[in-house]
Amino acid sequence: MSNLHAQVVVLGSGPGGYNAAFRAADLGMDVILIEKYDTLGGVCLNVGCIPSKALLHTAKVIDEAEEMSAHGVSFGKPKFDIDKIRDYKDGVIKQLTGGLAGMAKGRKVKTVQGYGKFTGANEIEVEHDGKKQKVTFDNAIIAAGSRVVDLPFLPEDDRIVDSTGALELREVPKHMLVIGGGIIGLEMATVYRALGAKITVVEMADQMIPAADKDVVKVLEKYVKGKYENILMETSVTKVDAKKDGLYVTFEGKNAPEKPQKFDMILSAVGRRPNGDLIDADKAGVEVTERGFINTDKQMRTNVPHIYAIGDIVGQPMLAHKATAESHVAAEVIAGKKHYFDPLTIPSVAYTDPEVAWVGLTEKEAKEQGVDYGVGKFPWAASGRAIGVDRKEGFTKLLFDKKNNRVIGGAIVGVNAGELIAEVGLAIEMGCDAEDIGLTIHAHPTLSESVSFAAEVYEGVCTDLP
Ligand code: FAD
Repeated sequence: MSNLHAQVVVLGSGPGGYNAAFRAADLGMDVILIEKYDTLGGVCLNVGCIPSKALLHTAKVIDEAEEMSAHGVSFGKPKFDIDKIRDYKDGVIKQLTGGLAGMAKGRKVKTVQGYGKFTGANEIEVEHDGKKQKVTFDNAIIAAGSRVVDLPFLPEDDRIVDSTGALELREVPKHMLVIGGGIIGLEMATVYRALGAKITVVEMADQMIPAADKDVVKVLEKYVKGKYENILMETSVTKVDAKKDGLYVTFEGKNAPEKPQKFDMILSAVGRRPNGDLIDADKAGVEVTERGFINTDKQMRTNVPHIYAIGDIVGQPMLAHKATAESHVAAEVIAGKKHYFDPLTIPSVAYTDPEVAWVGLTEKEAKEQGVDYGVGKFPWAASGRAIGVDRKEGFTKLLFDKKNNRVIGGAIVGVNAGELIAEVGLAIEMGCDAEDIGLTIHAHPTLSESVSFAAEVYEGVCTDLP
């Protein structure tokens, strides 16, 4: 067994891991990055954020081309070459993971391929192709991420996939059932619908994307209602019979069809669970919760002072940008800097059509916390730009603390909401009040104007709209 040693060892190379490794190396430390796969980038780059957005781009162009017929421009029925669509998506992944490998090399970060498990407080054993290697460290950063939650009653069948299987895009089914109306399920539904599949979504809660406010999600629900075959809210799947001619699904709940329904493909997208239970953390003395999370302090330190944890494995929200922000804290704290993970906000975005984005407090949370808040809501039906692009179903909503008129939350639903929400996040972090936002001159005609208009609506000074 060969031995390696580094000042900093990072376990897992997702957005948490590779960013931690790079920041630690930039700060002058020698770093080893352990990853079980032969590419860096973790879930996000290989089977998550990036491939889903590449496919969503394809879906958007297909949908927009179709919508243009209402404006007098017809492109005819699109022809799909599924292999080429997949190649495009794979090319995007390759470009990015290849870039990461180059960046690691440029920084002299040593990458070790294999599955790592703690064997002591300062050592990890890495196994690859039956060979074992010992890696010792002064400090470790656990960035081992999360995995898909499986529904135990789903049979083993090629036609039943999780998000990774759906992103492989092997074929487009005639009728696809998406179990789970959360962000990942709905993004995949957006892709497969654009490619020609009929879509049924089943969700146990009384709204899609349960974490977001109801009024925001309602816009998405209304927009997709006519496009999807069925949306079964407050309903769950209890049984799937995999037969030769299809997958027969039994439902239970408020909107459950009486008889089993037949589908050609099922995407199970009911959540993700942390990998804390798979790395023998106890051998290093690191505590793991019953659910597999690893608790840390605000400097990302676990209960063992020289071992840090970041990303999906430390808790919700399981988002790449949260992992990245935490990675910088961990690496800088190891380098002796005083840095804390203490954001006021972490934005969430569903890259559906329309997009749903929110940051800071939702109304639901503000009510639960007893915050005395006011709302400024600007409907896109009054936005010249939204009307011009024929997408006026959305709105921009800001929440203000009535004590000082500071913005404490915001939600946007509509095209490009994911880009637009950044301004609201900055406003919250900077402590902006309604006047600061309303007085900031936004370019006209843009969808971003809707943010300043929402502030003006709250102040009661919004007059001449489009
Ligand atoms: P991960 O990305 O999970 O990386 C962990 C890495 O560690 C993996 O490469 C794994 O192979 C490796 N590993 C684990 N255990 C070991 C071990 N013992 N030894 C060696 N290697 C190990 N987030 C967003 O912010 N925006 C999005 O648009 C978005 N879209 C998504 C779409 C999908 C379909 C999915 C599934 C997720 C999406 N996410 C998105 C979530 C995002 O991918 C995660 O939050 C992010 O990847 C978490 O980063 P991480 O570094 O904590 O872990």
